[in-house]
Amino acid sequence: MSRPAWAEVDLTALQANARYAKALHPGRLMAVVKADAYGHGVLPVCRALAPWVDGFAVAFLEEALALREAGISAPILLLEGFFAADELEAIVAADLQPVIHQPEQVDLLLAASPAKPLRVWLKLDTGMHRLGFAPEQYAEIWQQLEAAPQVREVVKMSHFARADELEAPAATEAQLACFDRATQGLPGPSSLANSPALLAWPAACRDYNRAGLMLYGISPFSASVSSAKPLQPVMRFCSEITAVRELPAGVSIGYGARFVTPRPMRVGVVAVGYADGYPRHARDGTPVQVAGQRTRLVGRISMDMLTVDLTDLPEVGIGAPVVLWGDRLSVAEVAQWADSIPYELLSHLKRVPIRYLSTD
Ligand SMILES: *Cc1c(COP(=O)(O)O)cnc(C)c1O
Repeated sequence: MSRPAWAEVDLTALQANARYAKALHPGRLMAVVKADAYGHGVLPVCRALAPWVDGFAVAFLEEALALREAGISAPILLLEGFFAADELEAIVAADLQPVIHQPEQVDLLLAASPAKPLRVWLKLDTGMHRLGFAPEQYAEIWQQLEAAPQVREVVKMSHFARADELEAPAATEAQLACFDRATQGLPGPSSLANSPALLAWPAACRDYNRAGLMLYGISPFSASVSSAKPLQPVMRFCSEITAVRELPAGVSIGYGARFVTPRPMRVGVVAVGYADGYPRHARDGTPVQVAGQRTRLVGRISMDMLTVDLTDLPEVGIGAPVVLWGDRLSVAEVAQWADSIPYELLSHLKRVPIRYLSTD
């Protein structure tokens, strides 16, 4: 017996999302699996995705080496490239494809003598202003790398800051126009689209699309968008009611006495807390699914527990199933109640075992 707290990851849903992502555009699909596959467990996720995608993208070297050590042989893109010269040897040995986004990386690469020439992704800053070369510098750096013996091929890339904001398209349109202007006349493959762009910006879909969130079945948009409808949520965060209290009116629940009972209430304790990745900033009223029905969070989240209103669910007792997020209660909705985003909630999942479900 152990604490009833776990996550279910539906690998069949994951594969269906990957097939859907592939069907949206003929470009190659790089599955973004940084941060332990957005909390879903990177190795089972990569093994399930491998037949359906053209490669993987992770943030940094150690994440990529873990995949290679597990026998994953698909192309791997390092989204942050390398931070120091001593990573280059491992990058070459593991056949990884680093992003190059600043002059220091160009210098390190051109000073090195890798055993084999590298395929690099040269990042253009089209308006996010986080990583990347300025448009005026781009063609010159591209030519320098194309001519370098250390380089086998250059993929032109950029990243969108606001592709999920369909109500404010000007920023993404400007980034697209900037990319096309700065890369005009430079041959070879290019890559722009993240999940929202693959779902809603056909003009941004190029030789390589880089999808993360949508593979996990979550829409990146805050409003309902038809192209996101077929996505199937992959993770279900599960627990059970482990204690039930009948409380009179006028008493407080939990740390800081944030919630005070307005009337006599029946309150259930759930065996999940912020140390498991449930957001501590979830407000009173955040939806929680208990025995298949929606109820609400009451009181602050504890490290190992949270409390829910069972007043209108008199049949619910100890052992009743609880879903913190899943298919009928989206992690995106919970995130809104916690002033967060689904990316953060999913990638913060920890301490609970993951049970993998698959129909084959
Ligand atoms: C994380 C990341 C992605 C994937 O973004 P999603 O919105 O999850 O699809 C794509 N490109 C880069 C550069 C990233 O850092």
